Amino acid sequence: MDGPPANDCCSVCHGSFNTPCQANCSHWFCGNCILLVWDHGSAIQPCRCPLCRRQISLLVPGEASSRRRHDPEVAEILGKVATYNRLFGGHTNGLIQMILSGVYVVSPVDIIPEGILGIVGLLDDLLIVLICFLHVSAIYRSVLYARHGSS
Ligand SMILES: [Zn+2]
Ligand SMILES: [Zn+2]
Repeated sequence: MDGPPANDCCSVCHGSFNTPCQANCSHWFCGNCILLVWDHGSAIQPCRCPLCRRQISLLVPGEASSRRRHDPEVAEILGKVATYNRLFGGHTNGLIQMILSGVYVVSPVDIIPEGILGIVGLLDDLLIVLICFLHVSAIYRSVLYARHGSS
């Protein structure tokens, strides 16, 4: 199906569909309406279908909505729908995946190919620096004590 049934109306606003989107439970809503439903709940959790209470993990814009994507208002709604799908799509922890990929984006480029080994190597280096520092400070302290003792 590429659009809502002609005799149907949005169950949120009870009006005709505006930028219709189909949820994974097969129910249709205005893009704006279902995003409002999501806004009312937790931003980090997918919303539930107002009709069948199933968790919505995917919103598919109807073909008519996609054809009108040059309209700024429609484009904005489609953008939000795409964000929603990125957050909750795929049934797994999409949000966690997004955070992880975000961490990869902000982390220095040279850490990525080395992966965990690179981080372990970095810790190793830090440990050696720390041990050297402790040694140097111990020698320094013993020198100070020796001087103090001789004077
Ligand atoms: Zn509506
Ligand atoms: Zn539903």
